[in-house]
Amino acid sequence: MRGYTDRWSVRSVPRRTCVGCRGTSDQADLLRVVVVGSVVVPDGQVRQAGRGAYVHPSPECLELAERRRAFPRALRVPGPLSTTAVTQAVLQAVSSKDREIEMSTR
Ligand SMILES: [Zn+2]
Repeated sequence: MRGYTDRWSVRSVPRRTCVGCRGTSDQADLLRVVVVGSVVVPDGQVRQAGRGAYVHPSPECLELAERRRAFPRALRVPGPLSTTAVTQAVLQAVSSKDREIEMSTR
Protein backbone atom coordinates (compact mmCIF):
# COMPACT_ATOMS: atom_id res chain seq x y z
CA MET A 1 0.00 0.00 0.00
CA ARG A 2 2.88 2.34 -0.58
CA GLY A 3 1.82 5.60 -2.13
CA TYR A 4 -1.64 5.37 -0.64
CA THR A 5 -1.01 7.83 2.17
CA ASP A 6 0.92 10.09 -0.16
CA ARG A 7 -2.10 10.49 -2.36
CA TRP A 8 -4.26 11.49 0.57
CA SER A 9 -1.71 13.83 2.08
CA VAL A 10 -2.05 16.12 -0.91
CA ARG A 11 -4.06 18.93 0.51
CA SER A 12 -6.80 19.82 -1.88
CA VAL A 13 -10.47 20.52 -1.72
CA PRO A 14 -12.17 17.93 0.45
CA ARG A 15 -14.03 15.30 -1.55
CA ARG A 16 -17.36 13.96 -0.45
CA THR A 17 -19.56 11.16 -1.67
CA CYS A 18 -23.05 11.91 -2.92
CA VAL A 19 -25.57 9.66 -1.18
CA GLY A 20 -27.60 9.61 -4.39
CA CYS A 21 -25.32 8.59 -7.25
CA ARG A 22 -22.40 7.60 -4.97
CA GLY A 23 -20.11 9.78 -7.04
CA THR A 24 -17.52 11.97 -5.39
CA SER A 25 -17.30 15.71 -5.83
CA ASP A 26 -15.65 18.65 -4.21
CA GLN A 27 -17.39 19.42 -0.97
CA ALA A 28 -18.33 22.82 -2.35
CA ASP A 29 -20.29 21.21 -5.18
CA LEU A 30 -22.39 19.12 -2.87
CA LEU A 31 -25.29 20.07 -0.68
CA ARG A 32 -24.85 19.20 2.96
CA VAL A 33 -27.99 18.01 4.64
CA VAL A 34 -28.69 17.30 8.28
CA VAL A 35 -31.61 15.70 10.03
CA VAL A 36 -33.77 17.65 12.44
CA GLY A 37 -36.28 15.40 14.10
CA SER A 38 -37.56 13.30 11.22
CA VAL A 39 -36.96 15.92 8.56
CA VAL A 40 -33.94 16.21 6.31
CA VAL A 41 -33.05 19.87 5.90
CA PRO A 42 -30.36 21.60 3.84
CA ASP A 43 -27.49 22.76 6.01
CA GLY A 44 -27.33 26.34 4.92
CA GLN A 45 -25.68 29.39 6.44
CA VAL A 46 -26.35 28.16 9.94
CA ARG A 47 -24.16 25.21 10.64
CA GLN A 48 -26.36 22.57 12.13
CA ALA A 49 -24.85 20.27 14.66
CA GLY A 50 -24.90 16.56 14.19
CA ARG A 51 -24.27 14.13 11.43
CA GLY A 52 -24.49 15.43 7.91
CA ALA A 53 -24.78 13.81 4.54
CA TYR A 54 -23.82 15.12 1.14
CA VAL A 55 -25.84 15.03 -2.03
CA HIS A 56 -25.48 16.68 -5.41
CA PRO A 57 -27.97 19.54 -5.61
CA SER A 58 -29.84 17.87 -8.44
CA PRO A 59 -33.32 16.33 -8.49
CA GLU A 60 -31.88 13.14 -9.99
CA CYS A 61 -29.52 12.51 -7.10
CA LEU A 62 -32.21 13.33 -4.55
CA GLU A 63 -34.53 10.87 -6.18
CA LEU A 64 -31.83 8.22 -6.19
CA ALA A 65 -31.07 8.88 -2.55
CA GLU A 66 -34.72 8.58 -1.64
CA ARG A 67 -35.24 5.43 -3.63
CA ARG A 68 -32.34 3.64 -1.97
CA ARG A 69 -33.24 5.15 1.44
CA ALA A 70 -29.78 6.60 1.62
CA PHE A 71 -30.64 9.45 3.96
CA PRO A 72 -31.65 7.43 7.03
CA ARG A 73 -28.62 5.23 6.47
CA ALA A 74 -26.17 8.09 6.01
CA LEU A 75 -27.62 10.09 8.86
CA ARG A 76 -27.84 7.06 11.16
CA VAL A 77 -31.47 7.48 12.00
CA PRO A 78 -34.19 4.85 11.78
CA GLY A 79 -36.37 6.89 9.40
CA PRO A 80 -38.62 7.34 7.54
CA LEU A 81 -37.48 10.87 6.84
CA SER A 82 -39.19 13.69 5.05
CA THR A 83 -37.00 15.14 2.34
CA THR A 84 -39.47 17.77 1.15
CA ALA A 85 -37.37 20.68 2.45
CA VAL A 86 -34.27 19.47 0.62
CA THR A 87 -36.20 18.79 -2.58
CA GLN A 88 -37.61 22.29 -2.52
CA ALA A 89 -34.22 23.84 -1.90
CA VAL A 90 -32.72 21.88 -4.78
CA LEU A 91 -35.54 22.74 -7.16
CA GLN A 92 -35.15 26.38 -6.24
CA ALA A 93 -31.41 26.25 -6.83
CA VAL A 94 -31.95 24.52 -10.16
CA SER A 95 -34.51 27.06 -11.35
CA SER A 96 -32.37 30.03 -10.32
CA LYS A 97 -29.45 28.48 -12.18
CA ASP A 98 -31.64 28.15 -15.27
CA ARG A 99 -32.46 31.81 -15.02
CA GLU A 100 -28.78 32.67 -14.81
CA ILE A 101 -28.08 30.68 -17.95
CA GLU A 102 -31.00 32.32 -19.70
CA MET A 103 -29.70 35.76 -18.83
CA SER A 104 -26.13 35.04 -19.85
CA THR A 105 -27.19 33.75 -23.27
CA ARG A 106 -29.13 36.88 -24.03
ZN1 LIG B 1 -24.97 12.65 -7.06
